[in-house]
Amino acid sequence: MSVPSDPYQTLGVSRDASDADIKAAYRRLAMQYHPDRNPGDREAEEQFKRISEAYALLRDPDKRAWVDRGGGRSTGPSPDFSTVDWSTIFEEADLKVDFGEGVPRTGNAAFDALFGVVTGVMRQRGLLPGAHRNADLTVPFATARVGGTARVRIPGPSVCASCRGSRLGEDGRPCLACQGRGVKRFGERVDVTIPKGTREGAQLRLRGLGGPGQPPGDARVTVHVALPPGVERVGDELHAELAITPLEARRGVTTLLHGVRVRVPPGSDDGAVVRVPGGGLAGADMRVTLRHRVWRGLARWARDTMVGSRKAGGDDA
Ligand SMILES: [Zn+2]
Repeated sequence: MSVPSDPYQTLGVSRDASDADIKAAYRRLAMQYHPDRNPGDREAEEQFKRISEAYALLRDPDKRAWVDRGGGRSTGPSPDFSTVDWSTIFEEADLKVDFGEGVPRTGNAAFDALFGVVTGVMRQRGLLPGAHRNADLTVPFATARVGGTARVRIPGPSVCASCRGSRLGEDGRPCLACQGRGVKRFGERVDVTIPKGTREGAQLRLRGLGGPGQPPGDARVTVHVALPPGVERVGDELHAELAITPLEARRGVTTLLHGVRVRVPPGSDDGAVVRVPGGGLAGADMRVTLRHRVWRGLARWARDTMVGSRKAGGDDA
């Protein structure tokens, strides 16, 4: 659920409103926008959801403090609505919602779907397919180029990767990783294989590791490639600069730039461009502009010499 930009404004109360004022304002608006009174009115449904979320924020002292600190307008962590006790909230507003067996039965499908309570319960009981989960993952340039692994957190609740939702460990006892629930409420962390030559924006699909259900949803991971400072991406091609000393420019030199071997031919001019086939992303070129710089060139040379005395190939600086 989205966070209301200003819950005070949504409920039409002042910032110093008392708990009783806030509750009264919510009750009045909830009656006005209740889906039962506005059948089929999407705008009323959305408004009902917005005011309910606003009230859920302001009735909880911790969440209200978060709002007062500027929450929702900043990029800080947003409150977790999945832990909100909607039955109490609706009771407070005198909304007729029957919570038999923990499942609200309003008889209003739109209302139920709005809060996803029914579908959430049905999914956990394996009666509906699980939702797909989307995650973003940023990997270093070197990993994207040569391949490797990286850990991604899938938004929760998501299927336990240890038992893949079966709730059982290999020994037939309840899975230890999820205490036999088959689900990680706040999301599972998974090590994923980053294929060699991964592009910016590449999509990886982790089948069956999304939201719980029957069948479980997939986790879809969008990979972002973190480039070293000073490196620009143009399509899959990478553009970088290399500082060399005037002596290197005259004699030529082979050096590592962000883990890519660059061969500078003898007699290279300042501003000359060297192309490294396969030095970019997904097999594209790296385009290196040479700069004749005495001190930066010497610093680079000194670093290369140290790297060279270890083992060439791993420099990522
Ligand atoms: Zn498990």
